[in-house]
Amino acid sequence: MRRRRTVLCVCCATPGYVMGRGLITACYQRHRSGGTLDQFPMRGAPVKGAGEAAREARLARLEDYADLLTWGASWKDAAARVGVCRRTAERYNAALKKQEAR
Ligand SMILES: [Zn+2]
Repeated sequence: MRRRRTVLCVCCATPGYVMGRGLITACYQRHRSGGTLDQFPMRGAPVKGAGEAAREARLARLEDYADLLTWGASWKDAAARVGVCRRTAERYNAALKKQEAR
């Protein structure tokens, strides 16, 4: 469940519950009805490119992990080397198994 956050409104610095785009509820509604909502960029939604970079970093780690396994490292060693926790390593294992199956 997402908790509502108290923020300082981006347009007037009044503290309140954020409604969206860094605006508190009253301001969000005012800007929406006033048609000025576009002045405030959407937040929270992944910025185009940022998510892409994170995905690539994850893929690179998965590849390193797979390479280490190929070179004979145990999955625990491989996880430690790539710097991921056991749960992540298990996800990698599952992902690699899936790739092999294709
Ligand atoms: Zn405001």
